[in-house]
Amino acid sequence: MIADAARSLAGGATSNWQIAQPQAVWMSHGQGSHVFDVDGNEYVDMHGGYGAAIAGHGHPAIVEAVSRQVARGTHFAQPTEDAIWVAEELKRRFGLPLWRFANSGTEATMDAIHLMRALTERDLVIKVEGCYHGHHDSVQVSVLPEPEDVGPADAPHNVPGNSGIPGAIMDLIVVVPFNDLGAVERALATHRGRIAGMILEPIMMNAGIIPPEDGYLAGLKELLHAEGAYLTFDEVKTGFTTGPAGATGRYGVTPDIVCLAKALGGGISVAAIGGIEEVMSAIADGRYEQVGTFNGNPLAMAATRANLTHVINSAGYARLDALATLAKKGFERHIAAAGLPWRVVSVGAKGCVAFTGSPVRNYRDFLEVDDRWGNLHWLLQHNGGVFLPPWGKVEQWLLSVQHTDADVELLIANFGKLTEVAG
Ligand code: PLP
Repeated sequence: MIADAARSLAGGATSNWQIAQPQAVWMSHGQGSHVFDVDGNEYVDMHGGYGAAIAGHGHPAIVEAVSRQVARGTHFAQPTEDAIWVAEELKRRFGLPLWRFANSGTEATMDAIHLMRALTERDLVIKVEGCYHGHHDSVQVSVLPEPEDVGPADAPHNVPGNSGIPGAIMDLIVVVPFNDLGAVERALATHRGRIAGMILEPIMMNAGIIPPEDGYLAGLKELLHAEGAYLTFDEVKTGFTTGPAGATGRYGVTPDIVCLAKALGGGISVAAIGGIEEVMSAIADGRYEQVGTFNGNPLAMAATRANLTHVINSAGYARLDALATLAKKGFERHIAAAGLPWRVVSVGAKGCVAFTGSPVRNYRDFLEVDDRWGNLHWLLQHNGGVFLPPWGKVEQWLLSVQHTDADVELLIANFGKLTEVAG
């Protein structure tokens, strides 16, 4: 398939992350909690489109909303009533008063960084080592740096996350370790009056899953505000997968700006930026031009409204929690039976295995986690009929509201094959 695809698609795919090791898969279609590849193989889908498919596939509420909107027009480049409804619902969930829409997580974090810089008239931004925020220049720094490049733990090097990132832009990013308030305090003191703000995933979710320690998020807000700088939570991945108001709701710390995408749109491409009045007023009065042809397009807004109303509602989260508990207990049973030191890290609909007995507080700890087990796990799940995201220890499974107990039992049984080998 890759040879056929590569004749017209660069590298045989539509994103480099679709051809990840250990094996690329070309999909035909999805139905409920399952996906079907072009060779006719059926899998329980726990890849979830890198964290977007919380509704599963062909969810009746999404199909109905999207079909209705397609017939009524998909694009006017003018706001619709659904956009107002969605903004009101996000305001209620996240406690932030004003919202704008975009089309991808990358655009949302780009707007957030522009806003922090525009408002403070400062250029430097603090970023956490190992956090991914999309593929624009300012955040392609120290995303998944190799161990030989990272430098000292208390003064991490800025490592380019891609080619084509100008050094002058990399120099505007100050990289700090996760879960380390002292590092942020030092960065603010070293660059006094020059830091516009900080962006982070409030739960690190592109390095397995690394939750924030008690007081970390609240401490960041206090430190940044004391220096006239802003705090942005990138909840592109954690928003809606970890609860109805993401990590913001889970930890009770409201940032100045929140970025959402992935699971927001019920499988349709959409992103949102929410902020405090002081920040969003820069958009409202035109000091910052937040723009985009397809921003808040009617199709995305209709799907998002249906998703928030019928899928990721209280019944949806009750179901996701029950499935997550089932998965966690099953995995823990196998780990205990095999006498392994591994841990299951499960937050809402997201979960993964930390293949280590040591605590993982930040990216440096994560580098120590044995990646071989992650890749073997993927293969055993794949051959056993469960489609997980690739990248070994980096990614997580996503449960959807359409998964059944039997789907989760299959995930658990396949994991048992791994613990048998490793034990
Ligand atoms: N932020 C986080 C935390 C992400 O995980 C991702 C994508 O994986 C992005 C931003 C970028 O989102 P998108 O791929 O929609 O541009």
